[in-house]
Amino acid sequence: MTEPELLETERRAVVDHAAELADLTPGRTGNLSVRGKREGDDGNDSNSNSDSDSDNDPGDAFAITPTGVPYDAFDPEDVPVVGIDAEGEQLAGEMTPSSEVPMHTAIYRREDVGAIVHTHSPWATALAVANEPLPPIHYMIVAVGKGVPVAEYAPYGTDDLAANIVAAMDEADSTAALIENHGLVVTAPDLPTALENTHHVESLARLYLESRSAGLEPQTLSDAQLETVLEQFESYGQ
Ligand code: 13P
Ligand code: ZN
Repeated sequence: MTEPELLETERRAVVDHAAELADLTPGRTGNLSVRGKREGDDGNDSNSNSDSDSDNDPGDAFAITPTGVPYDAFDPEDVPVVGIDAEGEQLAGEMTPSSEVPMHTAIYRREDVGAIVHTHSPWATALAVANEPLPPIHYMIVAVGKGVPVAEYAPYGTDDLAANIVAAMDEADSTAALIENHGLVVTAPDLPTALENTHHVESLARLYLESRSAGLEPQTLSDAQLETVLEQFESYGQ
């Protein structure tokens, strides 16, 4: 199933960034994806079996890490491309896609995010196994919302798990969710931001647990304080 031109940039991005997962998640766990458009620029439906509804959508397919493969062991032509509108149909790539295609597909259908990172990173997962959400203990939480909820457990790779994750993110208005007895998922407009925000959540989970382990009671920021941070972030940086 080789279609070297399909989502070429996104497949290259998956290869270039997959090694960063190794710093976050043990072994071959976790996965990441980048969304793109099947038909070039403003394109028409030149692709014979394209079922895209609109030329303006943020992308009707995504490139995703292959299942069960070390993160430095694949090339762009191996990277699976999966259609968002086609119930997870594989469109290209020599390897079998991540078992979490239903999770990635459901999230891309929910909103216009450009990338998704899923890990079993230890500090976030330490909260997830205790079914404990991450409260707003530090202003950097606004990178993903005003807290990180826990999505209810369901077996990995299932539509049920995908639905639970989307529901938790919707309810908490967060771009991240802990997954009960499993791990973490983070979305963002692009892959570098999704990876950066994954590091933020992991480090905040660590702060929270280290503080609690020391017998302290971490304070939470108020809604008004978080709103102020959001305003400040509008003009933060260069
Ligand atoms: P994949 O190797 O199939 O991406 O699965 C890893 C995982 O984390 C499942 O939840
Ligand atoms: Zn997982």
